Amino acid sequence: MRKKIVAGNWKMNKTFSDAEDLLQEIGEELQAANNTKVQVVICTPFPYLEMATDFCQDFDYSIGAQNVSEYEKGAYTGEISAEMLQSLNVEYCIVGHSERRTLFHETNEQIKLKMENLLKQDIIPIFCCGEVLKDREENKHFDVVKKQVEESLFGFQPLDFNKIVIAYEPVWAIGTGKTATADQAEEMHAFIRSLIVEKYGKELARNTSILYGGSCNAKNAAELFAKENVDGGLIGGASLIAADFITIIDSF
Ligand code: PEP
Repeated sequence: MRKKIVAGNWKMNKTFSDAEDLLQEIGEELQAANNTKVQVVICTPFPYLEMATDFCQDFDYSIGAQNVSEYEKGAYTGEISAEMLQSLNVEYCIVGHSERRTLFHETNEQIKLKMENLLKQDIIPIFCCGEVLKDREENKHFDVVKKQVEESLFGFQPLDFNKIVIAYEPVWAIGTGKTATADQAEEMHAFIRSLIVEKYGKELARNTSILYGGSCNAKNAAELFAKENVDGGLIGGASLIAADFITIIDSF
């Protein structure tokens, strides 16, 4: 049975002490809500990971990073390796976020290398894919997502593929307040699952968690999560406010 996952992506927000407060608040509210159905992941900026994974000892969430190097180790000034993340007990890592694809020109091949490094270190990649507005207007959104999925994911052996979480994030919905409708999300998630059926078979496809991301918030999460192929969310802005994040988690 695939997992229901709600992952917060804090992006480049919060000071160290604000981050401590938010981790404490989310942890306490999660305890009070006692929701055992959902795996909660919080993806903090790199400098807070060690502090954040310490919080996991008291609270029921996992910690993720927002990026990782495509290189394993060596002379790559400023890069952070998967092995370093593992040494801090990081359990998840976002890869291929549209902000990294657009602003830092990440390619499908680089994203694949990053996932290989993460899997070697037993860290679960949260692989992001999604089309820009122009692709959707030109009715190319299925082709665009298919190419991202095929080029970055379909080289993995089934045992490795099985560990990867997918996040469909239409770029036009990220940070814009413009959410995909629940039907648009379901249509794309079902399409992605059908690609997995073709490549790896029904069982693996059934076990793959596919999250929706893009202006998912406390008001619209329940409608999105009610869809058969939407297994949770990757949440940006709304994950920075404890009460909103908890409402989203409780929307299942
Ligand atoms: C994201 O950063 O992955 C995201 C979905 O952001 P937002 O929820 O703010 O649109």
